[in-house]
Amino acid sequence: MFVEALKCLRCGREHTPAKNLYVCKRCGGKLEIRYDYDAISRRVDKRVLAKRRPGVWKYLELLPIADRKNIVTLGEGGTPLLEAKNLARELRLKHLLLKDETRNPTASFKDRPMSVGISKAREFGARTVVSASSGNAAIALSAYAAKAGIECYTFVPAGAPLSKLAQLLMHGARVVRAKARGEGDPTYKLMREAWKKFGWHPIPSAGAFNPYQPEGSKTMSYEICEQLGWQVPDWVVVPTGAGTLLSYNARGYSDFEQLGLIGGVPRLAAIQSEGCAPLTRGFKEKTLSHEIPTWPNPKTVAGGLVDPYPWDADTAIPAIELSNGTAEAVSDAEILEAEKLLAKHEGVFAEPSGAAGLAGLRKLLDAGAIDRSDVVVVEVTGGGLKDVAVAMRLVKEPQVIEPELGRLKKLIWAVR
Ligand SMILES: *Cc1c(COP(=O)(O)O)cnc(C)c1O
Repeated sequence: MFVEALKCLRCGREHTPAKNLYVCKRCGGKLEIRYDYDAISRRVDKRVLAKRRPGVWKYLELLPIADRKNIVTLGEGGTPLLEAKNLARELRLKHLLLKDETRNPTASFKDRPMSVGISKAREFGARTVVSASSGNAAIALSAYAAKAGIECYTFVPAGAPLSKLAQLLMHGARVVRAKARGEGDPTYKLMREAWKKFGWHPIPSAGAFNPYQPEGSKTMSYEICEQLGWQVPDWVVVPTGAGTLLSYNARGYSDFEQLGLIGGVPRLAAIQSEGCAPLTRGFKEKTLSHEIPTWPNPKTVAGGLVDPYPWDADTAIPAIELSNGTAEAVSDAEILEAEKLLAKHEGVFAEPSGAAGLAGLRKLLDAGAIDRSDVVVVEVTGGGLKDVAVAMRLVKEPQVIEPELGRLKKLIWAVR
């Protein structure tokens, strides 16, 4: 393993890697993993990487797992970077690419971090893991826990869609639906208490409680660089909730830059839903990240982006600024329109949260923030089958006819 230390982002203390180390032992702050890039660069170069099979574990040297035998994998990552020619024409954009994360084992990018999170928990000898999540992280965790034979508790919001609950329950997770009450996220409240009281290993998707799992999301950036022939795009557009995905996408580019594999980093655009946009508001109003207030009464069709408190804003906002990027919020109507466009023009079926990036791109193009000659990658982070009820609101129910050609002819004329 090439991990040198885990550094506390609050008090600055450096920890050597140790069993069950999840937050700073002195102050409880968030830990950031530091790697020995010199040693990694002696092992990894473009030629070495080109020979390996695509997927998250292709980049083992840049992940915090000591022993390869602890890896729990379902074939995550290695997703296509699709040329979106139809949409590019529609948006009058020169070069648009979709990083299609709907292809992951449980149909969201969360499989990347959760594969790493469970592998680390196995390395620590965990018997029970626990997550707090609006859905996708819990689903991914429950699938990997099932594969590893580790017990999994998940706290989800009371309003989680049925299709997400079904996925969780099928994987054998012990699912608890937590009612919203007053300030803060009830799922995180329960998770922290269970971690402290029962010693369950916390693997939510936020880096604030587990520094290992989000490292998995760096691999999206590694793949994008390789898929573009070691070029970086001008922009990467990232659907954003807690800011974890964006923070670790950014670290992926900075890892490759430090290894001398790429010559710069892309500009990052964080896209939130107007119904829950604390990070975007914090960015625009230049609020100190630890002073960003919890978003009251979140309400949006993009359930995967509901993080009333953006746990990783303290790393996401500086990453956006450093990249000369931006943050924007989009309405439910804009998100749903984007979901339709992706499905209809590019054959990619996204859930609303997964389509928010495209909605954001359209808004940033209109505002002139992104130039139409830029090379843009939009991350499509979650698949449409996760929320079929929403999709059915966007389409008309098909007609039923007698199986006769005459009836079919009438129907064809009627819809023309
Ligand atoms: C979790 C999630 C996101 C956002 O990730 P954060 O790390 O919370 O910012 C985006 N899209 C989908 C589909 C997700 O499940």
